[in-house]
Amino acid sequence: MSTMLLRRAVAPARREIPAPLPPLPSVDSVVLSARPSEPLHCLRPAALQQAATDFLRGFPGRVLYAVKCNPDPRVLRALWEGGVRHFDCASPNEVALVRQMFEDASIHYMHPVKSRTAIGEAVARHGVTDFAFDSGDELDKIIAEAAPVRGRLGLLLRLAVSNAGSSFDLSGKFGAAADDAVALLRRARPSAQRLGVTFHVGSQALDPAAYRRAMVLAMETIARAGVSVDILDVGGGFPVAYADVTPPPLADYFSEIAAAYRLSGWHPGMQLWGEPGRALVAGGGSVVVQVQLRRGRDLYINDGVYGSLFDAGPTSRLRFPVRLVRDAAVPAAAERLPFRFFGPTCDSHDRMDGPFLLPADVREGDWIEIGQLGAYGACLRTAFNGFDRAHLVEVADGPLL
Ligand SMILES: *Cc1c(COP(=O)(O)O)cnc(C)c1O
Repeated sequence: MSTMLLRRAVAPARREIPAPLPPLPSVDSVVLSARPSEPLHCLRPAALQQAATDFLRGFPGRVLYAVKCNPDPRVLRALWEGGVRHFDCASPNEVALVRQMFEDASIHYMHPVKSRTAIGEAVARHGVTDFAFDSGDELDKIIAEAAPVRGRLGLLLRLAVSNAGSSFDLSGKFGAAADDAVALLRRARPSAQRLGVTFHVGSQALDPAAYRRAMVLAMETIARAGVSVDILDVGGGFPVAYADVTPPPLADYFSEIAAAYRLSGWHPGMQLWGEPGRALVAGGGSVVVQVQLRRGRDLYINDGVYGSLFDAGPTSRLRFPVRLVRDAAVPAAAERLPFRFFGPTCDSHDRMDGPFLLPADVREGDWIEIGQLGAYGACLRTAFNGFDRAHLVEVADGPLL
């Protein structure tokens, strides 16, 4: 049990950098010996590293990891080992964490709305020179607060683009409309050593052509502004598989993006950037829960939407892959039935409708491994209702999907 760490309370971006744990051979071996009655977070550093290597190899430009997706230092370290050197950060804590871990990392502050303090500290303490904006007021703020790096500033305009075809629409909050973007690009150009256009097509984008359409809009906007642009950043959104979704292969996304990028020949030297989150880390994390009660097809489990399973809840309804973990001496029924989950808190929103397919005889005391939770999983948990305890292990076996 010495290789299993207690995770208490909520730490979105922990400042202390943990030593690597010896990876345990498999989830089953840990569960069946430790028999955890609290959620067990399983990280797969080898899978994270591989996902990073594959993405870097395939993407036709520079890859920034979107840290909010999973800021666990162990995850950051695995991605770094897979070759990631650029980080898309969106809060002072994320900036500080990445800088503390990797002195040589390139940090890009891609949140379009920041406090003056956050901009100033990112510049002065952490050497950040790249900032996103989607309004004239934010642009003024950056130019004022980043005065110490005047002449070295990277300014990235966040453009509003369609989020149709993505499971998570991120268009309601950020992004300048094309007409405003034209004016903002002209205004920003004189202050920028590097001027860029960035966008987000929505998370879990299931249509590779969404990137091409957004890139065409970006290039039209740049042409209308009549200024030179140094960076085209296609954002995140690259999808992963869930129990009921098999997205097109990433290669299809990369070739769409590469083809659209070639159309930008009239901007020689324009760099291409991408900001994957989910696609790099989803497979590298899972959570093992225990069944506390079965009532018909309802399973009451020890983690829920206020824990690691927000995206299985009513807001997102992702159908994560599941797998029963039980002693080999008690074989599971071959028949599979659809189940729904209820989390441990007393709140009625703490339910996950799935349906999740599990052996017909699943029962109290069984464990269930829930996969693809490396992205937007444990980093979303709260301490609501006192359910703030979990454990963490690193394992060597492969992801569920
Ligand atoms: C969340 C976010 C990302 C990562 O999105 P994924 O869909 O997880 O790839 C990238 N860029 C920005 C600006 C984001 O807010």
